[in-house]
Amino acid sequence: MSPRWLVKKAARQGLALGSWASGSMRARRVLSRGPRVRVVTYHRIGHEPQEPFCVTPDAFDGHVRYLAERELAVSLDDVIAFVAGRAELPDGACLVTIDDGCVSTLTEALPILARHRVPAVAFVTASLVGLKVDALPEPYLGWDELRELAASELVEIGSHAYTHRSLGLMGAEDARHEAFESKAVLERELGREVRSFAYPFGTRSDFDARTERALADAGYTVAFNSMHGAVRRGMDPISLPRIKVEGGEAQWMFRLLAQGAMDPWRVVDQNLWRLQRVRQEIVG
Ligand SMILES: [Zn+2]
Repeated sequence: MSPRWLVKKAARQGLALGSWASGSMRARRVLSRGPRVRVVTYHRIGHEPQEPFCVTPDAFDGHVRYLAERELAVSLDDVIAFVAGRAELPDGACLVTIDDGCVSTLTEALPILARHRVPAVAFVTASLVGLKVDALPEPYLGWDELRELAASELVEIGSHAYTHRSLGLMGAEDARHEAFESKAVLERELGREVRSFAYPFGTRSDFDARTERALADAGYTVAFNSMHGAVRRGMDPISLPRIKVEGGEAQWMFRLLAQGAMDPWRVVDQNLWRLQRVRQEIVG
């Protein structure tokens, strides 16, 4: 185990346990206006030790089973209706999302989702479909495989931009192209409407009012960034936060994560953004 890995895991576990033990989770639930639901983010399902972007099939099965048994698994439709105030969802409900469109979304995640009848959204980068690069841990799904995934009627395909670059750091025209082109290509190839978008990287510098306008103009109903946080009724559907699930963490960590013990992590996200900005100002 590398020291950095251990320090980061200790910090996450410490925050989750501290939040749980201090009763602040319960206090937030009582004080918050209405239920909070969470959109959890995965990337790859497989066996890559000490890789935060990869969760083992056993761990993923445990997470999905936990949500299914407590009837906390919800669909994209449910989240859209909840944000708009048209539907009630239980506090602690979760939508599963899987970014990048890697092969394990079909080979590992889908059978587990199907076993527990849990819906999910897979965010796919249109220009990377079918790409195999030796340096990458997994190939990207091809068009036939994506059609198979969509045909399950359990996994909805969303856009993860056209080229997997930061929309916030590119020119306005390029960002609009990412939004429009990825939607057009995915819809043409899959024969289905693509109504959701997840920003590549999704940190505070990867989206802004301009990119949100581009997504709305392109016709997306809902868009997710990667800022850590819960989703509440009345939020702007084109700017929703998510919660990243990391590899190498125990089942109890996922339960606390799903119940909101890691919600204060958003402070870390916001301050990292400030630090980044300070650095940009110094560098010019
Ligand atoms: Zn990504």
